[in-house]
Amino acid sequence: MTTASSAESSLAHFVSGVLASDPEIRDLLELEVERQRSTLQLIASENFTSPSVMAASASMLTNKYSEGYPGRRYYGGNVVADEVENLARERAKSLFGAAHANVQPHAGASANLATYLALVEPGDTILAMRLDQGGHLTHGSPVSITGKIYRFVAYGVTPAAADGSGERIDLDQVRDLAKRERPRLIVAGTTAYSRTIDPAPYREIADDIGAKFMFDAAHPAGLIAAGEHPSPVGVADVVTFTTHKTLRGPRGGAILTSEDLGRSIDSAVFPGLQGGPLEHVIAAKAVAFAEAARPEFKQYAAQVRANAVAFAAALAEEGFRLVAGGTDNHLCLVDLRDFDAELTGKIAQEVLDRAGITCNRNQIPDDPRPPFVTSGLRLGTAAETTAGMKEPQMVVVASLIARTLRHRDDESELQAIRAEVSELCAMFDPYPDGLAVS
Ligand SMILES: *Cc1c(COP(=O)(O)O)cnc(C)c1O
Repeated sequence: MTTASSAESSLAHFVSGVLASDPEIRDLLELEVERQRSTLQLIASENFTSPSVMAASASMLTNKYSEGYPGRRYYGGNVVADEVENLARERAKSLFGAAHANVQPHAGASANLATYLALVEPGDTILAMRLDQGGHLTHGSPVSITGKIYRFVAYGVTPAAADGSGERIDLDQVRDLAKRERPRLIVAGTTAYSRTIDPAPYREIADDIGAKFMFDAAHPAGLIAAGEHPSPVGVADVVTFTTHKTLRGPRGGAILTSEDLGRSIDSAVFPGLQGGPLEHVIAAKAVAFAEAARPEFKQYAAQVRANAVAFAAALAEEGFRLVAGGTDNHLCLVDLRDFDAELTGKIAQEVLDRAGITCNRNQIPDDPRPPFVTSGLRLGTAAETTAGMKEPQMVVVASLIARTLRHRDDESELQAIRAEVSELCAMFDPYPDGLAVS
């Protein structure tokens, strides 16, 4: 058994041992280690990656230039990098059952942009989810390059219903818009949608109009790998994902596709969009793909969902309205208006931060407030499930959130909650053995 103090020293060693020469950065990293371990991490797109993933991404491969692909590099000295990238590709293919994998995208945004570059021409029409109803910036926001290059048309969710059956992706609208606008590409995938996304109806609609279909699995990639969400692989033409959200790997992106589209996807990533790949991060992706193939990861993903369901029920009990009536995945989208009509997402996020509860404000469908203010909060269970929390802790966290928001003007109550949060986090340390790689 590892004691808390050896965990401390392993984390301290990682930060201060490595960065003895730069006390300014070392001190900041120490503060960040402390922040991550003593506050609750409920941002739905975050997770605690393993010490092995961190070790690989901190490796000497950061020194290597590897423009091109294994066996076809522009520079010498890529014997090892080739093997690393091949291993990452093979592991990604086997984890998701895909014919072709590109593991080079620096991020989810680059994976999406590369897919557009491969499949459509500038000015072409793309059908994707509305940003204010759960879509992502790279699905055609006017402030994103995607919205400047392509003509995006957007679908949304059905109206809210008292019994919770509303606020589901409106597939009739997808179908109608597809027929009317004739997009060359249809995009599924969201950042703030708490229900399962069935890829099958999208495939049908795309086939009806001769469009391609991209599934952006940035959020549910880990659930998909574990069989806890229907897989779009083999249904969509292209599946993009991030490796750092529910998949619990390093910060980065990847693309899965059929053999015949593989070539155009590869050339869209490089040389189309990126220069040299981050082979140290690709090594870390390979580690994460192997971890996600283990039985423990299946248990983890099932627990992430069970925790989200328990969390949703406990939040409803506290008087919050759950958008879409609850959750099938790793996140809850909370409508704050029933709890407190005066409370905005912005105020809630700020006061929760002071209590040590980290989450983000989020627009809810048909939000009357602007995106910077919002009426909602997005709460995810992926990170704290990694730290070992289960259903009973979700009930505690829901009550801490409600107490914080009810007593938001009471400084001493906020201090008391902050102390309770620290105590809870100390019992669920994401790195009980420090950063030792076992
Ligand atoms: C997070 C996310 C992305 C972008 O990922 P980055 O790594 O931040 O670029 C793309 N699409 C969706 C749906 C996401 O949730």
